[in-house]
This record gives sequence, C-alpha cells and structure tokens, in this order.
Amino acid sequence: MKEHTRVVVIGGGIVGASMLYHLTKLGWSDVVLVERKQLTAGSTWHAAGAFHSMNSDPNVARLQAYAISVYKEVEEISGQDVGMHLTGGITIAATSERWEVLRYEHERHRVIGIDSHLIGPEEIKQLCPIMDTKNVIGGLFDANEGHIDPYGSTVALAKSARKAGAEVYLKTKVEDLVHQSDGTWTVVTDKGNIQCEHVVNAAGLWAREVGRMAGVHVPIVPMEHHYLLTGDIDEIAEFDGELPLILDMDGEMYLRQERNGVLLGVYEKNSTPWSVDGTSWDYGESDLLPPRLDDIENELMRGFERFPSVADAGIRHIINGPFTFAPDGNPLMGPVRGVQNYWSCCGVMAGFSQGSGVALALSQWMINGETEGDIFAMDVNRFGAFASKTYAIEKAKEFYENRFLLLCPNDEWPAARPHKVSALHDRLQQANAVFGSSFGLEIPLWFAPLGSEPKETPSFRRSNAHEPVGEECRAVRESVGILDISSIAKYEISGPDAVTYMDYLFASRLPDLGRMRLGPLLLPSGHLKGDMTVMRLAEDKFMITGSGYLQEFHMLWFEQHAGGKKVRIVNRTDDFSAIAIAGPRSRELLSLVTSENVDNASMPFMSVHSMDVGIALCLVARISFTGELGYEIYVPTVYARSLYDHLFAVGDGLGIRAFGIRALLSLGMEKSFGIWSREFTPDYTPVMCGLDRFVDYGKADFIGREAALVDREAKPMHRLVTLEIDASDADAWGYEPIWYKDEYAGFVTSGAYGHTVKKSLAMAYVKTQFLDSSNNEFSVHVVDERRPAAIISEAAYDPSGSHMRS
Ligand SMILES: Cc1cc2nc3c(=O)[nH]c(=O)nc-3n(C[C@H](O)[C@H](O)[C@H](O)COP(=O)(O)OP(=O)(O)OC[C@H]3O[C@@H](n4cnc5c(N)ncnc54)[C@H](O)[C@@H]3O)c2cc1C
Repeated sequence: MKEHTRVVVIGGGIVGASMLYHLTKLGWSDVVLVERKQLTAGSTWHAAGAFHSMNSDPNVARLQAYAISVYKEVEEISGQDVGMHLTGGITIAATSERWEVLRYEHERHRVIGIDSHLIGPEEIKQLCPIMDTKNVIGGLFDANEGHIDPYGSTVALAKSARKAGAEVYLKTKVEDLVHQSDGTWTVVTDKGNIQCEHVVNAAGLWAREVGRMAGVHVPIVPMEHHYLLTGDIDEIAEFDGELPLILDMDGEMYLRQERNGVLLGVYEKNSTPWSVDGTSWDYGESDLLPPRLDDIENELMRGFERFPSVADAGIRHIINGPFTFAPDGNPLMGPVRGVQNYWSCCGVMAGFSQGSGVALALSQWMINGETEGDIFAMDVNRFGAFASKTYAIEKAKEFYENRFLLLCPNDEWPAARPHKVSALHDRLQQANAVFGSSFGLEIPLWFAPLGSEPKETPSFRRSNAHEPVGEECRAVRESVGILDISSIAKYEISGPDAVTYMDYLFASRLPDLGRMRLGPLLLPSGHLKGDMTVMRLAEDKFMITGSGYLQEFHMLWFEQHAGGKKVRIVNRTDDFSAIAIAGPRSRELLSLVTSENVDNASMPFMSVHSMDVGIALCLVARISFTGELGYEIYVPTVYARSLYDHLFAVGDGLGIRAFGIRALLSLGMEKSFGIWSREFTPDYTPVMCGLDRFVDYGKADFIGREAALVDREAKPMHRLVTLEIDASDADAWGYEPIWYKDEYAGFVTSGAYGHTVKKSLAMAYVKTQFLDSSNNEFSVHVVDERRPAAIISEAAYDPSGSHMRS
C-alpha cells in the first residue's frame, strides 16, 4: 500500500469506481481507492442496474447521457464485460395529464439534446408485448436507456483506472481522517496510514460515518427499496428481441427483462427509511433486508394489472435493499465549506444513470478548479445547517414516495414545513400568503383572496394565482407594495484588506462610499459565478446581497479567496430581515416613518443609507427589482415585525398592499431583469447575458479577467433576449425550445405574464445567427402548442428606467 498519494477515494461502489476512473481520465494518475470489503459491497451489488438519461435539469440530463456512454468506453479499455443492454426505454402515460407532461418533456428534450420520440399504444405493445395497454395513451421512447451489470460495470471502471496508474486497496477500512495544518489529510486505515492531498467521500451507505470522521454532517437517508424477479414468461421466451426498460409513473413502477423473466421494481407510498442514525459497519457485502410485502402490495397489484403474465410467472426472488437519498433526491457533490481538500461524492441515488456524470464533474472541479457548466442541482452546498437529520428524513421520504409523481413547475412540496420562518411569518399568514420554501425558509409566493384556501392549483398553465398576482402587480405599479425579502443573503466583508480583496473578487468596479453597484463574480474560465449587489458602508466595509439559497455556495467562494488576507467575512442573513417597499408612493411611505430627508437629491437611485426607520436603525438601499421607485430596508431581525406593522399602519392611506415573489418576478420580467439560476448561471459569460456592462475590463486584475477579455472579442453562440409570446392561457416556464420557421433557434430560461403590459413574456437564449432574422417567424412551444413569438429590442415596461430613478 502506498504511504503517499494525491487523492484517496473512499468507497468502491459504482460512484467511487467512477470517480477513480475519471481522475485518471482527466490526468491525475497518482490516486487510490480504498474499499473496506470488495468492490460493490454497499448498495451497488443489489441494484437493478437500470439507466436513463431523462432528468428535468438539462445539465444533469447531459451528465446522465455522458455516464451511459462511459460503459462501452471502460469495457474496451479493461476487457471486462459490463453486461450492457441498450434496450431503449419507454415512459408511459395512462392519464391525459401525464400525456400532456410527456409531450411537453419531449419538446424540452430538443433543448437538452435527448433524441426521444412519442409513440402510441400499438407501438408500445409491439415493443413490450407483455404490457396490457388498455388505458395507455402513449409513451416517450428514448433509445439511450437500458440496464447494466452492476458488478461488471464497477469492476470495468476500477480496472480501467488501474491501467492508467491508479491503485485499488480492497479489504481495507478507513477508520479515521486527520486533517493536517497544511490542509493535507492522513487517512487512517486498518492496514496503515496514507498521506494525501485530497480525500473523496464516496462511501455510499456509510457516507454519513465517513463524513463524521472529517466533522461533516451529510444530510442523506437510506431508504428501503424492493424489486422482484420472476421465473420465465413464455411471451418473453418467444419474443424476438429484448423488452425495453418501462417506466410506468402512474403505476409507480419500473420493469425490465431479466433472462426470460422480468425485474419489477416499485416506489411505494408507504416508504421506510432505514438505519436513520447511521449504517452499521457489519452491514454489506451480501446482506439484504427482509421484504415488506404488505407495504408494497398496492404498487405490486398495479404492476400485475399492467403486466398480467408477471402475476402468473411466479416470483423467483424479492430483493429489498437500502440506498441513499439527499432531501431533494439529487447527489451531494463538491467541496465542503470549511474543510479544505475534502470532497463530497455521495447521495447518488441513481448510481448507474449518474455515477460517471458526477465523477466527471467532480474530477473537473478538483483538477481544473471549476466544472464545465452549471451543476448546482448536485452541489452539496445547496444545503446548509437547515438540512438537519430530521429534515433530511422527512424530505427523503417525501422524495422517495413522489419519485414518479406528476410534477408541475408550480408544485410546492409540503414535508418538513414550515421549517425556518421569517419574523414576519404570522403577518404573512394572516394576509393569506401562499408560501414557497427557499434554503429551508418559508417565503411568500403570492396572496390568496381572504377567505379562500391559501393553495395553488398545480398546473403548467395559468393557475388560480394569476388574478391575485395581477392585483399585486397593479398595486406596485400604481401605489405601493410591500414584500418580505428576508430570504436575501446578506454578507458583511470588512477589514484592512477588504478593498483589495473585493476588487479582485468582483469583476465590476467597487462602489463609492454610500453607493451600491451590481457586481458580477466570474470563474477563472470567465463564466458567471454570481450576480450580487455590492454596497459600500465604509471605506473598508461592504454589505453584499444575493440569492438566499446560494449562501453556502457564495461563502465557500468568498472564503476560498481570502487566504492570507486581513478580511472579515460574515454571513449576516439571519441577523437582518429585509422588507422591500416599491411603487410611485413608496417615497411618501418612507418619509412617514423616518425623519431623514428622502428626496431624490438626498437619496438618489443606487445609494445606501444607515438611518432610523420607525424605531430601528436600518440600512436602506434605494433599489427595486420591480422597476419602480423603491427601497430595500435591512432591519435587525428583532425589530422586523414592529417595523412591518408600522409601515402597514402608516401606508393604509397610500393604498399599501403586500405582494409576493411571483409578482416580483412578473414585474422584473417586464423590465427584462434576469435572475440567478435562470438567465445567469455558470453556463453563460457576461457577454452572452448582457452583464458585461457591469464588468470593469480595465481593472488591473480580477478573477476570470483574462478569459473575460478573450470572451469580449469573440462572437457568442447565444445571446439573452426578451420575447413576447402570443399565448392567452399559459406562460413559458423554462427550457422550452424556440423555433425560427422550423429551425431550432434557442431556448427559454424563464417566463411570466406581464400584468402591466398585458403580454406573455419570456427571457431566452437565442443563437446569434437568428438575431437579425425576420421577427415574424419565431415561435415557442408553450405547454401543448407552438405559439408565435417576437424578440423585443427593449424592456416591455419603462425601458428608459425613468420610474426607478424618479
Ligand atoms: C434494490 C435497489 C435497486 C436499485 N436499482 C437501481 C437502478 O436500477 N439504477 C440505478 O441507477 N440505481 C439503482 N439503485 C441505487 C444504486 O444502487 C445506488 O445509486 C448506487 O449503488 C450508489 O453507489 P455508491 O458507490 O454511492 O454507494 P455504495 O454502493 O453504498 O458503495 C459504497 C462503498 O463504500 C465502501 N465503504 C464505506 N465506508 C468505507 C470505509 N470507511 N472504508 C472503506 N470503504 C468504505 C463500502 O463498503 C461500499 O462498497 C438501486 C438500489 C437498490 C437498493
């Protein structure tokens, strides 16, 4: 066994083996994998081995497609048979709602790059003769689905890595991790110690235990999962070909061929978290759990109805095994804040669809310092301290039980809520708010009419929120609206080196004292890392605000670049609440609660002031995402509720009205304001999305400067535009394809109805070659129809910005 190496990957399941292979593939060969038993000794050995590339997140879908392509590659390199069955797969719809969703998905696959086809019941029957297609309306066929041998594929990955110089130590258990003062690690195993630069936690079922060795809480929960294997079925034995992988989401089951019988797996509503306090070191290798047939009876019965011959074939085996789920079902990968050179690579619930995609992205991150494209959906830093053990259990159970639920973009998942609440929560409840959840915090989405149930009807089309959101928008445009924006992240950066540090961190010029600026953060590749607002409170003290759900993601970035500098970086998000007031009468409202002069000369657009508002000393920023005259009031959380009440009391005569995030997004869309995770992500550069106007290319240095300068001279493939869509019943949500005549021209990033301009609007990336094309020939596929669309050259509302500046 080596005593020194660059990387120790802990865990020899499909994920650890994928990780080892990709580190070597990307050029690091001095790497080892340590496995306490033998390869596949966790969840991997008893998996059904099914894989598919479909995923609602396009970047995850792309990585899944990549993962599938790796199996053939490692089979060739290693000579190890991976047992690949590329049978194709069909997701079937047995309800009209599901069929509509599948058709919508099919359109969006054009954007993601998945070559899927819609097929009817007859074709489904031909491909899968054992299916009773009685109430099946249709299906979505993807040729890039099938199943793989779990053991063969894991071994092929490990062998391929070994051929490139990696080493694999079996029957070697990691017992402790000791962090050295220089940031390196001592990996303590039962066979001796290994010194290394990096450790990767790919310990699957034991990731929580390996996390604890480094002081890291891993919010995953193993869930029990069943599939059954049948004896031979005559129709299959006689069938000329192999059955495709079938996903029956309405029946909450999947099926694939196994020899001349089938494997039928179910996601039961009565789910069972397993070993919630930790996984015993004695579990594994060939252990299985006792079947709980009563709990899966309903789903099995539906399976037998859909595949009648399965019921007659006799059950050969029932497998019940545990595998791990993060609260939202996506992997937990990436560097962990506060623990240098420790990499999370766990919570991968679909190891055979995702293993190599996760491993590719994480290897890029370790070796190049960033991933190619936006992988936030899998980033471990999307969770923070709010993801406690209890939270993780409730959420994992919810995810498991709804794995195949028909999801609309406005669906809100109820488990473990309310979890965190803002100081204004009871006031928002009294006003009949419909809440969403962001980073564990309840946020007001919109306000239902008093006396009605505060609930939104899930739909791809305009929902019961449409009219109330319209009224909220009108209040902001015509008088004054008030919004709880406490979820905004607030960071304080100060100290003797604060200016040089901030100047290097942000691509923009720093604001002058008492002023604020929009500040893009760039990656070394010149792609976006953040879009934040920077306020200068003193010569050497800044307040930075940004999206609340990115707190860990941004704090990690800030801290990673602070090494050796005299700066103090503090996350003040929970210390300060924030209340936005916006609308033509917002200045009047502010003047009624402060003795300061708030006229345009004393308090101009983009200025920031420390001042008394009501009874509290607050920070007031003259800015508003609504495109109206407006202010963001940052108030110490203990005073937030009395200030909110005070504002409401004095605002009564001004027509004050509470509004929610939906109205905010609609108002922002009318101004063509982009948001993070939609228009702005690491997939794009400042030039592509128009944030280049905030980049100070002349500055001596900032992260990503060299690449940004090159990018500025190159013609981008896509540019961000705003579209008007001729749609009267639905608005775009994101990732809908845009067509120019019949050519694919780009995709939508977000959409909303503009209640002031009375138009359906969307923001979209359009290929630059189409930007000068005739504007009458564009169309966008929204829900079930191609709808005419046109690019608008300026914001739909107040393009000169006179209202904001008034
Ligand atoms: C019944 C069932 C069916 C499934 N079907 C599918 C399917 O069809 N398709 C699909 O994609 N996924 C499926 N899955 C999920 C799939 O099994 C997992 O996504 C995958 O196995 C996770 O792999 P892993 O490498 O992360 O973890 P694991 O397989 O749990 O591997 C972790 C490894 O780490 C080792 N280890 C842990 N701690 C230490 C230590 N301290 N020192 C050294 N070694 C250590 C363990 O011994 C183990 O070998 C199924 C799961 C179950 C239970």
